[in-house]
Amino acid sequence: MSTDDSAQRELLQLLSGKWVTAALSAAAELGLADALTERSLSSSELAERLNCDAHALSRLLRVLCGEGLLASQPHGLYALTELGAQLQTGKLRELARFVGAPFMWQPWANLADAVRDPSRSAFERATGQSLFDHLDRDPEDARIYHHAVDAFTRAAARALCEAFDFSDLDSVVDLGGGLGSVLTELVARYPKLRGVLYDRPQVIKQAGSHFAQHPRIELVSGDFFEQVPQGADAYIIKHVLHNWDDAQAQRILELCAKALKPNGQVLIVESLLLPGDFRDATAFLDLEMLALCGKGHERKKSHYRKLLQQAGLSLRTTTQLVGEVRLLVAVPRGA
Ligand code: SAH
Repeated sequence: MSTDDSAQRELLQLLSGKWVTAALSAAAELGLADALTERSLSSSELAERLNCDAHALSRLLRVLCGEGLLASQPHGLYALTELGAQLQTGKLRELARFVGAPFMWQPWANLADAVRDPSRSAFERATGQSLFDHLDRDPEDARIYHHAVDAFTRAAARALCEAFDFSDLDSVVDLGGGLGSVLTELVARYPKLRGVLYDRPQVIKQAGSHFAQHPRIELVSGDFFEQVPQGADAYIIKHVLHNWDDAQAQRILELCAKALKPNGQVLIVESLLLPGDFRDATAFLDLEMLALCGKGHERKKSHYRKLLQQAGLSLRTTTQLVGEVRLLVAVPRGA
């Protein structure tokens, strides 16, 4: 085979990423993995349970077998593989569903335009609104979004509890804390710790019905560009700064620096951009920020160090949590 042929095959393989994503997301939307939790089923049994056309579903099942999510068994039965089980509710179903949901899928058709002119995000070009304005106006998309982010966050929450010792702290605020999985994990692990979940009003409302109220978690709604809850020992800012440009990120950090107790700490959890040409999940996340948030972007460690300095803080330690996700611990400058 000529090198041209093999390059062509490789490119075709890369382009097929769309098919894989769409098939996985459709499976998640249909609830396929949940239906196969108890036992293997035939395609007609599945079609009945999932309210699908049997022939169309069998075409999806064939692709999912090829991708290793399902295994075909004798007598026309399909079983979940370990990989396929990740599409169950409570695992990564919510995330897979979100990736293919129309409000998340359509913006990518405008990526080239956003690269030409990032002043309007691909999301805004597709929906006419910024991401968070859209979520405020569309409760169903907001539900899909926050559950997806939360599915991704649960593993990082456990890693954060292990990577950082909260046992000497009394209070922690999770800024832009979404549905509260980080705080839920923290208060379960640290019996004297109290937490404040701080997010936009709509999200706090959603969080209120998402988890059982906990006596040591307070739900507070507000705008972190205007004010943040005062006087905590630590402020967690997880996957928030990457939604914003430097001036906006600095504003959030400045408000935390002012609100901190004297020995307080700011705990940033973000993916870091690393040097080198490799298949980097943070680089993809950076493109996701370009598509969804326009001005938002991922940063290198040196960039965070500078942002922190400008906000009156200094970077103390950096610890790997899961994959590319890092915990950056900062303290007031001079502390
Ligand atoms: N920290 C969570 C959620 C990250 S998504 C996690 O890692 O799982 C970004 C969060 O920032 C969303 O929950 C969003 O509602 C919140 N947010 C966006 N703008 C905000 C604002 N102006 N004030 C407070 N929260 C905001």
